[in-house]
Amino acid sequence: MTATLIRGRTLSFRHAPAGLEDKGAYGYEPDGALLIEDGLILASGSFDAMRAQAPDDAVEIDHRPHLILPGFIDTHLHFPQMQVIGSYAANLLEWLNTYTFPEECRFVETAHAQRIATHFFDEMVRHGTTTAVAYCSVHKTSADAFFDEALRRNMRMVAGKVMMDRNAPQGLLDTPETSYDETRAVIAEWHGKGRNHVAITPRFAITSTPEQMSAAQALVREFPDLHVQTHLSENRDEIDFTCSLYPEANDYTDVYARYGLLGPKTLFGHCIHLSEREMDAMSETGSVAVHCPTSNLFLGSGLFPLRTLTNRDKPVRVSFATDIGGGTSYSMLRTLDEAYKIQQLLGERFNPFESFYYMTLGNARALSLEERIGTLEPGTDADFTVLDMTATPAMALKAEVVNSLADELFLLQTMGDDRAIAETYVAGVAAKTRLGTPSP
Ligand SMILES: [Zn+2]
Repeated sequence: MTATLIRGRTLSFRHAPAGLEDKGAYGYEPDGALLIEDGLILASGSFDAMRAQAPDDAVEIDHRPHLILPGFIDTHLHFPQMQVIGSYAANLLEWLNTYTFPEECRFVETAHAQRIATHFFDEMVRHGTTTAVAYCSVHKTSADAFFDEALRRNMRMVAGKVMMDRNAPQGLLDTPETSYDETRAVIAEWHGKGRNHVAITPRFAITSTPEQMSAAQALVREFPDLHVQTHLSENRDEIDFTCSLYPEANDYTDVYARYGLLGPKTLFGHCIHLSEREMDAMSETGSVAVHCPTSNLFLGSGLFPLRTLTNRDKPVRVSFATDIGGGTSYSMLRTLDEAYKIQQLLGERFNPFESFYYMTLGNARALSLEERIGTLEPGTDADFTVLDMTATPAMALKAEVVNSLADELFLLQTMGDDRAIAETYVAGVAAKTRLGTPSP
């Protein structure tokens, strides 16, 4: 395959920015380029240096004056909830029972799961998201449809068949045995195929019996390298209900701890109302708290105490996510904008470099995938996005007075959405341009 030279302003992070002036946290090339081949970044740096290094027949694509960043990473969403977005409910448990569970029942049908999977990946590409961590439905058909479409598009995705055997409609229930067997089958069929990663996915403690939690524990023991994803401490009623179902546990986090589900590959959605003891347990095991701001605001779940989690003596790892369909936007720009506003309400500063760090390298680190994604480093996957701060008339007007990279990022975060994504590259291929056209 011919090498390609992608020219533009490039921005990639090295570590979490301590503040606006922490210039060591990122590398920025005002006239930069990526040299890519066979789905990988061969080199990145100034355009002149990359031009000198590129073979004579390298194809050149010029994205100036746009900004090139690693592809966005979304660490928590629900692929069967695309038609649940914007459902009018008072709170989490009402929203689940009235809208979400009935909708997820439809994913027993392969044709429906395939149709929604097509739309799902279109939206990811449209919004500049190149990796997402998804819950499928309880049905193996939904996981098959998801991973099949991810494979077809050559995207690096993490997902799992949901395990749930109580407190939901009959059409959404498996059993401890079938959840174990079907998760094993999904792992055997899809993990490591293309760029697919399978996650062990007990939905949350309310919808799993102790027997099913033991089945999840057996899977984690058998497949210790796999991601685990579930929900934790989203809403007060949910916490009370969980503790009533597991009276022997000290608290909600301890329910999962008792089944060996805490660890560095485990992603806990929400984590809004954790006690000090629970934060210690999260920190000691390296577990990740996943903040889903648009969902937390939409369902009135609470304000994520970001600084309390990250600035304590025993810090908790955090990541950011849309939580479609409790979340209201597929855009990581919109998501981090709402995260910013939540921190404003808590009296905390959250600067734009941090936001873009988390959308890229920060979320890659939360997934322990920073060797492959979230960066423009040589040898990593050529998944990146091209951002246009003048994408709408209102953005273009504001852009006239933008004087710094920090201003530009903050404009993109505050006013941007899918229209600000000029292009999305998946494994070196311009995927947004190709939306709607049949693959070769
Ligand atoms: Zn969720």
